[in-house]
Amino acid sequence: MLTCKEQVARSSDYLDGQLSFREKLMVRHHLMFCRNCRRFIRQMRLMQATLRAMPQKPEEGVEALAEQLAALRRKDSS
Ligand SMILES: [Zn+2]
Repeated sequence: MLTCKEQVARSSDYLDGQLSFREKLMVRHHLMFCRNCRRFIRQMRLMQATLRAMPQKPEEGVEALAEQLAALRRKDSS
């Protein structure tokens, strides 16, 4: 099984669909058992979605991103 460090190193490739079939299975397997990495992947996914949806003005995008992450953190701690 992957360590969390190895998992994190593969996260962006995983989200981009760049991993080989075998590596993808390893990542999924790790995510099944590791709550922390599940949360990490969720945050990365949200961040990517936010960056893609970023408006023309960069400052607004950064603000929206910070807001979304804050909302996510609130949800997790409740
Ligand atoms: Zn982990």
